[in-house]
Amino acid sequence: MNNLENNYVIYLQNLKNEDLHLKFFVKDNFFSKIKLSTIKKANLVVDINLDLKRNYIKIFTKIEGFVNVQCDRCMDYFDFPIKYNGKLLIRFRENLDEFFDYKKEDDYMAISKFDKQIDLKHYIYECIVLSMPYKKVHQNDENGFSTCNPLIIEKLENLKSKKENIIDHRWLALKNFNKK
Ligand SMILES: [Zn+2]
Repeated sequence: MNNLENNYVIYLQNLKNEDLHLKFFVKDNFFSKIKLSTIKKANLVVDINLDLKRNYIKIFTKIEGFVNVQCDRCMDYFDFPIKYNGKLLIRFRENLDEFFDYKKEDDYMAISKFDKQIDLKHYIYECIVLSMPYKKVHQNDENGFSTCNPLIIEKLENLKSKKENIIDHRWLALKNFNKK
């Protein structure tokens, strides 16, 4: 089953008691729907396999593609590759306060058994964000050299050596002062 509407929703009444497959496409407009998203541009394919049982649905999620992010070293924007594999357990419950031990599962979501649909938008967003490292920088090329903007890197290097110079001068002044 392919979700052509591409609205990141699973319509439960359409599901049958068998494994199902959904494909979603995550592009720039996906992130405009998420409040406070720092990501503006992306091109990702989300593959979802559903294992539907009487009391729960197991979702196997695979995300591949890239998000456009700002490099933490040179501040240029670049395409950061994304590869995510995860599992989500969605439990149907009559009463959402009912106790359920879910520690063994990667991710867990509870919905009422009367719910007719599951919106995966925020789940997909979290998977994308969690699959990225805290610090995002341009990758090195095949020879191990940085692919950051060379002009910015040169400026940063100059600034660094200037700073070191200032510190050296101060240190020298202090040393001379002590000799007196
Ligand atoms: Zn960079």
